[in-house]
Amino acid sequence: MATITFLGAAQEVTGSCHLIESPAIGKVILDCGMHQGGDAVKRISKDRFDFDPKELDAVILSHAHLDHSGLLPKLVHQGFTGPIYCTSATADLLRIMLNDAAGLYERDLERINLRKQRRGRKGQIKPEYTQGDVDNALKQCQGRRYGASTAVGPEASVVFHDAGHILGSAIVELEFKEEGRTKRVVFSGDLGNKDSSLMNPPARLREADVVLMESTYGNRNHKNVQDTVDELAEILATTWDRGGNVMIPSFAVGRSQEILFHLGQFHHQGLLDNWQVFLDSPMALQVTRVYDKWLKLLDDKDVKELNDAQKNSLIGFLPSLQISESPQDSIAINEIKRGAIVIAGSGMCTGGRIRHHLKHRIWREENTLLFIGFQAMGTLGRQLVDGAKTVRMFGDEFAVKARIETLGGYSAHAGQDELVEWITSFETNPQVVLVHGEPIAMQALEARLEREHGISCKLPAPKETLSF
Ligand SMILES: [Zn+2]
Ligand SMILES: [Zn+2]
Repeated sequence: MATITFLGAAQEVTGSCHLIESPAIGKVILDCGMHQGGDAVKRISKDRFDFDPKELDAVILSHAHLDHSGLLPKLVHQGFTGPIYCTSATADLLRIMLNDAAGLYERDLERINLRKQRRGRKGQIKPEYTQGDVDNALKQCQGRRYGASTAVGPEASVVFHDAGHILGSAIVELEFKEEGRTKRVVFSGDLGNKDSSLMNPPARLREADVVLMESTYGNRNHKNVQDTVDELAEILATTWDRGGNVMIPSFAVGRSQEILFHLGQFHHQGLLDNWQVFLDSPMALQVTRVYDKWLKLLDDKDVKELNDAQKNSLIGFLPSLQISESPQDSIAINEIKRGAIVIAGSGMCTGGRIRHHLKHRIWREENTLLFIGFQAMGTLGRQLVDGAKTVRMFGDEFAVKARIETLGGYSAHAGQDELVEWITSFETNPQVVLVHGEPIAMQALEARLEREHGISCKLPAPKETLSF
């Protein structure tokens, strides 16, 4: 008998973590993600493990996003010393993601403790993990190729398949022998949008007893990518005509590389002659270099386009790209009156260099602020998308005069049709479990699978256990 307990991303999108237990496997978790949104210090102390990290045999990681990996240092801090299996590209990205998150966490913690001291409060908040734990977690990572089989227990093995979501992202196939037969669990991780540039479509699998499928966009489909690229060209043209600049808040992994690729295509089509493009995000730059290292994992057709331009690199594909490493480089962009495209973090304008660009440009009507990612409730990005006339930043009020645009086609997740196609590729009638979705999205997907395919899904509550 084997069990799966759904500890995170059960009826919610973040905090992905599922515990599998069986004599053949031991105790293994799929993902070790943190919950996202709000204050990092409070969030990390609130996220608790419902098992003893010292007793865990292994972690299997679907991809490097923090909602799937962010609690690894805390797990190590609490005594986990086993292997962390992931793809080799994920291990490379993880180094950037975990170090960046640790830096932010440390700074936030210092600030909170200083405030406590100033107010005369006793006691300091102790860190939930340290840089040493990050270093150890990275040492525990064991990178694997797609398609290679790795033993994870006496009679169990894991294979990673391309999920097409971000570089290195994987669908996890876990196989083990029990009661004289082979059992198979497939965990989709986050499934990519098959239209998106650079990524391959998610691999289709045929056999499983249980499938855990993400359902982020279980209730809708995305706009077509070609329409999105056309829209981007149009936005650049009208902004140039108004004499302005374009600011693009962007997440460091995935979205930034995709927009760089499309801007590179524009360059080769002669559409960017008037423009200077700035990548004003040290983290996005590091991530783009990792993408360049692993081009062989990306979509062949798009990589051929890079090669045909004799660049063999995403950074080289856009020769006019200017990289802002230091804060001084970033400040220098403010001098440009017309024709700057600035890609900067954070993706929801909650922090980072993008806010400094907004401070200089959002109150001028010739400029454009272009959103290419989802904007969560409560963020500055969401206020702007919702049409705020003024916003507060740096203790001051700013009129929103710049044009606010949203491109809907840049999603890194499969839409409803693609989720249905992916799950109906299985030929063994597996038990389908929906995870990683808001209830409204999961229910819509559940209803469609039942109605059109006679598939009944399980929507587990947090900490619910499934035996199989
Ligand atoms: Zn993800
Ligand atoms: Zn996710």
